[in-house]
Amino acid sequence: MVKPSSLQLAILEGEPVRETMLPYGRQCVDQADIEAVVETLQSPFLTQGPRIKEFEEAVARYAGAKYAVAFSNGTAALHGACYAAGVSEGDEVITTPMTFAASANCVRYCGGQVVFADIRPDTYNIDCSKIGDLISPKTKAIIPVDFTGQPADMDDIMEIARERNLVVIEDAAHSLGAVYKDRKVGSIADMTMFSFHPVKHVTTGEGGVIVTDSEEYYEKLLLFRSHGITRNKELLERQNEGEWYYEMQDLGYNYRITDIQAALGLSQLSKLDSFVDRRRQIARQYSEAFRHIRAVITPYQSEDRESSWHLYIIQLDLKSLAVGRKEIFEALRKENIGVNVHYVPVHYNPYYRKLGYEKGIAPVAEKLYEGIITLPLFPAMTDSDIRDVIHAVDKVVGYYSK
Ligand SMILES: *Cc1c(COP(=O)(O)O)cnc(C)c1O
Repeated sequence: MVKPSSLQLAILEGEPVRETMLPYGRQCVDQADIEAVVETLQSPFLTQGPRIKEFEEAVARYAGAKYAVAFSNGTAALHGACYAAGVSEGDEVITTPMTFAASANCVRYCGGQVVFADIRPDTYNIDCSKIGDLISPKTKAIIPVDFTGQPADMDDIMEIARERNLVVIEDAAHSLGAVYKDRKVGSIADMTMFSFHPVKHVTTGEGGVIVTDSEEYYEKLLLFRSHGITRNKELLERQNEGEWYYEMQDLGYNYRITDIQAALGLSQLSKLDSFVDRRRQIARQYSEAFRHIRAVITPYQSEDRESSWHLYIIQLDLKSLAVGRKEIFEALRKENIGVNVHYVPVHYNPYYRKLGYEKGIAPVAEKLYEGIITLPLFPAMTDSDIRDVIHAVDKVVGYYSK
């Protein structure tokens, strides 16, 4: 039987579900954001001015932390956190392989060794029962990642870290606005990182931040962000020679954010809760729609935490499909749905292979990787965009289901 072209897959010469490509993520910038940026462009300070501190204070308040230090991007912020934690040559740091490379790379910047702990098959977050065996006398820190926006098992992680005297740096690039057992993400770990890349919850173009309650980490982060230089009279190691006097106390970087970015961030932050609400609404609609498709496993959510839904990832039950993930992915792209895959396990990358990491060290993450597809999810999606995604998944997965 010949199907009408709107039901025929676009990859098989049918009509695509939509005319234009729907990206998997995109910023949501309005007139107020633009005006905030323009106002800063007309002000005396483009960088090292008052907007940065205002932005940091707003982020710290939102996340329920005492201090915040903003960086030029989230990766630089993670680098700063590893520095502040004292990660150095020969130290080991435990993280998950199911993340963006930056969660592991920050350890390498400091000369540390990355130790990958496998993930839980339900939440896809780091499996705490695997962490204990991986701790050695060289272990310095743990970097859990709140994958897709659902907080990792932070109580268990903090408990392990307290027993073994380890620093916990939460990579919360996905989870700004998420809640763990009635506590805001940002108020739990020793240091927490948020990213302000345009696909994340709020954007500064490029940008990132570390929030912490520790004054010691705060001072180290400030130093690290700006060449290792301080002008703080209370922290000078040598004698204060005069008002001009500054000291470079350690080898830092120029990882500063600008006031232009901070102004955008401040304006964006005022809309964060509505952005997160919309993300949750879209995720609910997806999960409801896909519950009835046998070949689609929807993301499991722990009851004691509320994801802020950076990503919506479906897992394909490959046994019920006549084709693999690649074919489903390509068919969805042809329907003009900008699907993606998050992530290629970090240890699969040639850089990590060359360091000696092998396939097989994280079987749960490796198996998950075979079947995952990220669907579009961002607050500016219209109801019709949502329907298009659901329709396309129905159409493609339905066609290839056994
Ligand atoms: C986005 C992201 C980062 C930081 O990325 P930047 O682009 O440097 O801001 C770090 N970890 C994860 C898991 C991310 O998704």
